[in-house]
Amino acid sequence: MSEHQKYGFTTTILHSDRQKPIEHGSLHKPIHTSVTYGYRDARELASVFQGKQPGYRYGRQGNPTVAALEDKITKMEDGLSTICFSTGMAAIGAVVQALLRAGDHVVSSSFLFGNTNSLWQTVAGQGVDVSFVDATDVSNVEAALTPATRLVFVETIANPRTQVADLKRIGQLCRERGILYVVDNTMTSPYLFRPRAVDAGLVINSLTKSIAGHGNALGGSLTDTGMYDWTRFPNIFDNYKRAAPTQWGMTQIRAKALRDFGGSLGPEAAHHIAVGAETMALRMERECANALAVANMLAADKRVAAVHYPGLAAHPQHAVAAELFSGYGSLLSFELKEGIDCFDYLNRLKLAVPASNLGDTRTLVIPVAHTIFYEMGPERRASMGIAESLIRVSIGIEDTVDLVEDFRQALDA
Ligand SMILES: *Cc1c(COP(=O)(O)O)cnc(C)c1O
Repeated sequence: MSEHQKYGFTTTILHSDRQKPIEHGSLHKPIHTSVTYGYRDARELASVFQGKQPGYRYGRQGNPTVAALEDKITKMEDGLSTICFSTGMAAIGAVVQALLRAGDHVVSSSFLFGNTNSLWQTVAGQGVDVSFVDATDVSNVEAALTPATRLVFVETIANPRTQVADLKRIGQLCRERGILYVVDNTMTSPYLFRPRAVDAGLVINSLTKSIAGHGNALGGSLTDTGMYDWTRFPNIFDNYKRAAPTQWGMTQIRAKALRDFGGSLGPEAAHHIAVGAETMALRMERECANALAVANMLAADKRVAAVHYPGLAAHPQHAVAAELFSGYGSLLSFELKEGIDCFDYLNRLKLAVPASNLGDTRTLVIPVAHTIFYEMGPERRASMGIAESLIRVSIGIEDTVDLVEDFRQALDA
């Protein structure tokens, strides 16, 4: 057990800031809005800029309120260090900007959050070759590897069809081959799963979702778990090899992605996210219980054609999810029987809100093919297992009976 795990998940988060002295004994880390910082004298300024002394240089590269949040996420993920970004996409983009070069190859799960899928199409036009594979079986990942493969990218539970990647065996494969394993943990959150346990080197979280949890702040993070040997990564600039090899990756990401591209998290958003994180464990427990109750009700109703939720015994990766996760998450999706219009169904819901966020306290629903997966077209949708009537549900913390009844009554046309 590492030092981080001395206390339970929530205790650790609640008392994280107090491990360092906070101004005026304030119990929340204050929101530091200053963009620039003063020093005792000009020599100290130079020494901070040269990295010879700890300190902040300029808001784009670091901020005390954001650093306090980075510390908490590192503890949540049991990692070495974390860098926060303005959004989850900025965090994923940082992996590309800082670590990939033209001619490199990436193996990605084909079951992906729509915007991440779009990002891989973008980089394909910039000289990075991306192979999409069914990552629920490690053999597909292995078959796609080439000598130029720099990283393997998967989501834990894929948004929106809830396929669970073959997380453990992909981790073993990447470890054997010295390939960086990047896991987007957004759908499980570090409360249900720590990708470090399956040898992931970098962990992505969209803080916008379960960690902030209230749909009132955008943010993203990258955590170095310490499991990857950066001396095996060919794209580290000599400049960043002066530190210990455990720090090479994050030093380069902070400079090449955060500094050069500037997708920095603001201190106000960091504060909202940190407050949200205090109750994440409580929210996740309620959301997992609610999701299972709604999934069970839908699965038992003849008017529903399919329900996708890893907590259901019939889910193809139920056993993997049961082994690796401490809960099945707040994301489910389902398809209505032919003849029931998904827009009419959504309009009959009284509590669930038609909206595109995830991990909110309120239950949100969205017709996937007509909104977030509209731009990619029917062929690519079909290849990702997205039915035209698929409804994605982000389960909130409403009272269970109210929620189950809402999804049931809307089936009565
Ligand atoms: C939402 C989401 C992202 C992107 O996060 P933003 O904060 O919206 O940029 C990335 N991955 C997954 C799995 C997501 O659900």
